[in-house]
Amino acid sequence: KLAQFPFVRELDGFDYEAQPSLDQEQIRELATCRWIAHGDTVLFLGPPGTGKTHLAVSLGREAIRQNYNVQFVTAATLVAMLAKAHADGLLDKQLTTLSRPKLLIIDELGYLPFEANAAHLFFQLVSRRYEKGSILITSNRSVGEWGSVFGDPVVATAILDRLLHHSTVITIRGDSYRLREKRRSGLLQ
Ligand code: ADP
Ligand code: MG
Repeated sequence: KLAQFPFVRELDGFDYEAQPSLDQEQIRELATCRWIAHGDTVLFLGPPGTGKTHLAVSLGREAIRQNYNVQFVTAATLVAMLAKAHADGLLDKQLTTLSRPKLLIIDELGYLPFEANAAHLFFQLVSRRYEKGSILITSNRSVGEWGSVFGDPVVATAILDRLLHHSTVITIRGDSYRLREKRRSGLLQ
């Protein structure tokens, strides 16, 4: 079985009061998995520690409960997989494999800038899955910054064009939940 979540989280455990920039109704709609049935895209954008991976994992687990195949991968791992497949002359096969899960969750896009060929490989994956399978991406960068993440504004635009066509973009604001307890106990000011 696919998936490979970094941790177990559920929507039930999400504290919306700690994250008032989130629309709870919008998350509830995503939890129905209708967007996956339609092959739509979801982007969670926001600073570190604001619950992006928590939400991605929770929605992934919900999708599995609804019998969808789900694969979870970090952007760094995904790009490494594509680059290796490309070097081995197996790119097409890898793209086919990565197009099989109905939901592909790509976590942490933008923490590391892409290397030269990576944007193009990523573009091929997005094209292959376009309007067939859903992609959920989490990123600490706004879409306006994706040109510099991908290192190629033209390819970034082509990627965004496909991703944003049928999409829900959720921008999370606010402080890191990780640092919340520390802040409260006075360890951080
Ligand atoms: P991000 O992916 O945005 O960097 P995470 O989703 O990994 O952040 O969140 C960091 C930690 O804080 C995780 O353990 C997550 O479960 C927890 N967390 C973040 N936001 C919330 C929240 N609103 N309610 C409950 N737990 C949260
Ligand atoms: Mg994360």
